[in-house]
Amino acid sequence: SLAPLELTLVVAATARDMGIGANGGLPWTGLRKEMAYFARVTKRGDNNAVIMGRKTWDSIPPKFRPLRGRLNVVISRSFASGLPKDPAGGPDASPVEASSLEAALEYLRQKKTAMTSESGSGRVFVIGGAQIYAAALGLAETRRVLLTRVVSDFSCDTFFPLALGTTTEKTADVPKWVQRSRAEHAAWIGEELPEGTQTENGTEYEYQMWERVD
Ligand code: NDP
Repeated sequence: SLAPLELTLVVAATARDMGIGANGGLPWTGLRKEMAYFARVTKRGDNNAVIMGRKTWDSIPPKFRPLRGRLNVVISRSFASGLPKDPAGGPDASPVEASSLEAALEYLRQKKTAMTSESGSGRVFVIGGAQIYAAALGLAETRRVLLTRVVSDFSCDTFFPLALGTTTEKTADVPKWVQRSRAEHAAWIGEELPEGTQTENGTEYEYQMWERVD
């Protein structure tokens, strides 16, 4: 279980206060291109995994879950502790059930789907919600955030627990986050990125990539 494992968080959050959710769902609707970007980026390569909290799993319409083409891992305190089992009926039929983020990572290490490589295969993405992002941000494995910064404002009840692009704490033990260039971002995800602010359905947003540099 010494295989390198690197976590990338994927999130869309409001620019004003990092809002990510409202009433158990997304605060916005109709960001079809943004959702397609999420799907492409998390699918590209082989053997990718997406890790999510139980409430985020519940928020996905049943016909769209498990998210296709990716190993889905759901985290709930109601799941059996210890090393998770392989998904019943295969990864397109049911998710892996893990009792903690640490158990999920141990499962992925043992499956060797967590190996990072230059081809980008075997990537592990943490896709929310706020509770699972918070747990991931406490782990050294978390190196990167793919942030869709939603410039238009929405009323939210759930928030990403790290204020990227706002006032940075300067204490030595706070991990430091830097925004990478559009070229670096495009190279990492393996596709070209549109420049500047996108507008869809009246909502403005921008694609960003942040990395931890400590
Ligand atoms: P989460 O999706 O993070 O799920 C929370 C659940 O995860 C808990 O109720 C618990 O499940 C389980 N859990 C949390 N911590 C632990 C732990 N340490 N060990 C074991 N299990 C744990 O819920 P949130 O409410 O934080 O986020 C959901 C909201 O976020 C929704 O509104 C959703 O639409 C939004 N969202 C937005 C995204 C975006 O990019 N804008 C992305 C993803 C979600 P249990 O209760 O079963 O024990």
